[in-house]
Amino acid sequence: MEHITYRDTRGLDPMPRLFTDTVLAGIAPGGGLYVPERLPSLTLDEVLALADLPYAGRAAAIFRAFGVDVHPEQLDSLMDLAYGPAFDDARIAPVVEVSPDMHVLELWHGPTSAFKDMALQCLPLFFSEAVSMRLAAGEPLDDFLVLVATSGDTGKAALEGFADREHVRIAVFYPAEGVSDVQRKQMVSQRGDNVAVFGVRGNFDDCQTAVKQAFADAGFIARLHETHGIQLSSANSINWGRLLPQVVYYASAYADMVAGGGVRPGEPIDVCVPTGNFGNILAAYYAKRIGVPIDRLVCASNENNVLSDFIATGVYDISDRAFSTTPSPSMDILVSSNLERLLFELTLQPEAVRDWQRSLADSGRFTVDRDTFASMRRHFSADWVGNDECLSVIRRVWNDNGYLLDPHTAVAWEVAERMRDANPMLVVSTAHWAKFGGDVFRALDGLAADEPLPSQEAGVSGVALLSEIACRVPGASPVPRGLAELDSLPERFSGSVEAGRDGVERAVEDWLNAGE
Ligand SMILES: *Cc1c(COP(=O)(O)O)cnc(C)c1O
Repeated sequence: MEHITYRDTRGLDPMPRLFTDTVLAGIAPGGGLYVPERLPSLTLDEVLALADLPYAGRAAAIFRAFGVDVHPEQLDSLMDLAYGPAFDDARIAPVVEVSPDMHVLELWHGPTSAFKDMALQCLPLFFSEAVSMRLAAGEPLDDFLVLVATSGDTGKAALEGFADREHVRIAVFYPAEGVSDVQRKQMVSQRGDNVAVFGVRGNFDDCQTAVKQAFADAGFIARLHETHGIQLSSANSINWGRLLPQVVYYASAYADMVAGGGVRPGEPIDVCVPTGNFGNILAAYYAKRIGVPIDRLVCASNENNVLSDFIATGVYDISDRAFSTTPSPSMDILVSSNLERLLFELTLQPEAVRDWQRSLADSGRFTVDRDTFASMRRHFSADWVGNDECLSVIRRVWNDNGYLLDPHTAVAWEVAERMRDANPMLVVSTAHWAKFGGDVFRALDGLAADEPLPSQEAGVSGVALLSEIACRVPGASPVPRGLAELDSLPERFSGSVEAGRDGVERAVEDWLNAGE
């Protein structure tokens, strides 16, 4: 099997890289993101045949098509490990037709109840495999430290995937005021000897910026290498090893929709994705490029609607934009890292990508040229949903269809309804409702997003609230066990750090020193 090599969006890494190189490196030298030099192309029959395989087999088939540099038999066994009993549904990523022609792709059956598991049950296995391959080849190799900035869901999913893996440690930074009670408890109760979790006094963009600056700090990198024999890597969606597992479920979903009779073989579908860092919808774009019959890619934003404005106008502008807190915190993002990959794919011009990124860093905005804008519009549409409307959508869909949406999925549902035309619509559901119980409670009670919960509820923990909600929504998907038991787990991590590069670096070095 021929391997597909990777280059970076800014054209600054002189070497073509293999899949496992991109997994270990995370980000390219110079700050670019790795992209495949060519894309495979699947026939319709190959896509439809996925329906006959278990999910692990579907994943292996897509990875093989992408020419990853892992031995095919080893690939099969990694996929069996990734997509097995850790999920609470044997179909792994089932598609449910909630109302006529409105299909929901449920991506939250993994151990942390959000779609990040789809990639992060898989990436750490590739990580260990990549390390073993290099050690077996006699290459000298540092251990790795995976540094993660999280708006809530990535952190837990990455901790769960990397806990107690050899040759790797993981440190997670989350915005102390920006995650739900359930999300915080999930992270600070994480088991494992190689994990650390820190609350950052700031919002998600502060977190992400500080972690990115630590990655770019040559002094910090040298100290880690010299003092601890450690090299940095990333489990954020800048890592190509996060993107590729996400391409799988779009191909899988299409095959299931045809096999289920809701879609004719070859009939195009639209997909609507609740978007933050642009990783999930970018995976849908790659799925389309390799031959999955997807017509429109619909980007759904919350009140932090910089992306939907960009898709509408071709101007990406955060120069005068306040960060807003919403019921869908995993989409509370202003700087969408993966957009850089799309800009590269549309232009194939690293110089242009570099100019736009420089302009964004210098002035907080950039404008793409007319051709790039036109080619983006050929694939993408976008819209956004306000906080109160998001909650009323949850209530309406529950009342009309007996299906309970989490706030992120509700944003996508509403945008999908506004945008629907002739094609069947696939709404991507990214979290189980119970991860965001407070806002689901508000939604069911008809409260506004900024209203406090009724006093009898206010003293109740986010986890205890879930069983109260569950009683009111018979027939909804039950509270996952991993969430229901959270109040009984000890909180291991209470540290909080100053936003900014120095805060992140000091936290990491103190932790590493304490362990020696
Ligand atoms: C991460 C996340 C998103 C946003 O996904 P991106 O790949 O960053 O666009 C949406 N919903 C939930 C629940 C998430 O955890």
